[in-house]
Amino acid sequence: MTRILTGAVALMAGALTIADPMAQISRDYVRLVLALGAHDKDYVDAYYGPGDIKAEAEKAGLSLDAIGKNAVALSEQLKAAPAGADELSRLRRQYLEKQLAAMTARVRILKGQRLSFDEESRALYDAVAPTNSEAHFQQVLDRLDKRFPGEGPLVERYDAWRRAFVIPKEKLDAVFKAAIAACRAQTLKHVTLPPDESFTVEYVTNKSWSGYNWYQGNYRSLIQVNTDLPIYIDRAVDLACHEGYPGHHVYNALLEQHLVKERGWLEFTVYPLFSPQSLIAEGTANFGIEVAFPGQERETFERTTLFPLAGLDPARATEYYEVQAMVDELSYAGNEAARRYLDGTIDRDAAATWLERYALMPHDRAAQRVRFFDQYRSYVINYNYGKDLVRRFIESRGGTAANPEKRWQEFETLLSSPRLPSGLR
Ligand SMILES: [Zn+2]
Repeated sequence: MTRILTGAVALMAGALTIADPMAQISRDYVRLVLALGAHDKDYVDAYYGPGDIKAEAEKAGLSLDAIGKNAVALSEQLKAAPAGADELSRLRRQYLEKQLAAMTARVRILKGQRLSFDEESRALYDAVAPTNSEAHFQQVLDRLDKRFPGEGPLVERYDAWRRAFVIPKEKLDAVFKAAIAACRAQTLKHVTLPPDESFTVEYVTNKSWSGYNWYQGNYRSLIQVNTDLPIYIDRAVDLACHEGYPGHHVYNALLEQHLVKERGWLEFTVYPLFSPQSLIAEGTANFGIEVAFPGQERETFERTTLFPLAGLDPARATEYYEVQAMVDELSYAGNEAARRYLDGTIDRDAAATWLERYALMPHDRAAQRVRFFDQYRSYVINYNYGKDLVRRFIESRGGTAANPEKRWQEFETLLSSPRLPSGLR
């Protein structure tokens, strides 16, 4: 699943290695991330740094033990390196420290150490998501039960209603392209993007996720959309914002522009998936949806543009989003299923049943989600808890819904800086 592209910043590498201890630490960090990628196929999500570091990592062929020891030693060097003067330099050091700590935790997990769900998410993502009881979700389900009265499981009644909002397969590409164009236009009103940024969309099958952004360097991304299951109309804007604008594509492009190209910080040319960076990435990508389409703007755009393009009844857009707002209140039910399943208190069938009952996922989607738990484990908290942490952070700095300009400004600053999940609190 890893896409490696090299050479994008090869020119600057030689000049950076000598005098600055942080430049050497940064190179060593990249080398260790790439070395761990050889043991863990999902670990290196993106790399567009110098090809010689990749060649060195491959040649050394470090064992898990050696990677763990080197990461600890590198952390010691980092503590001894002179502190940077500005805020960004301070954030950079804290970021590298936590990224290295997460790397050693991932090594221990790959060697067979069992951590609880919460211990794992703290070690890898620098955060522990809140726990919710069945009663918390039940009060939302009770409201939905009134909305969809009748016999049989609520998930079936909800799913039957929702079928009228599936994007027909032959209209998928046109709907996605329109959604992406709108998300990009909304973003460009507030954020200056690097020149020549662009991405390609591909439709794929047989994945545990519904969409994925593969960042390739030089301001380019490959966005993959999984068509295994029916795609409902809300996924168009969700995916276009989350994977593209102002989500992952913009986040990666701004990091490349501001931290890699302007400052020469090589560590940002590599993205280790099981690390605190992922909470910031997923949290900003999800919060970015409402930053791009605040208040009624999304529903208006969908009613006037996307519903007609998908051949759906525009008169039902309001109804659809009223129900979706209620269903969104169940997002943490997925974390509960994952926590119980990965802690071993329920098995995979029970996890799927929990998702059907409390997250209102139809059977095949629930099964897909359990496969996601198998592959990515406590990563699930990065989406909903990440979004909540990002929202609170931006609002605490004055970027509230009532002040959209300030919200965009704080959002862009966060996307361009190496801030950690614990630094959002
Ligand atoms: Zn994502």
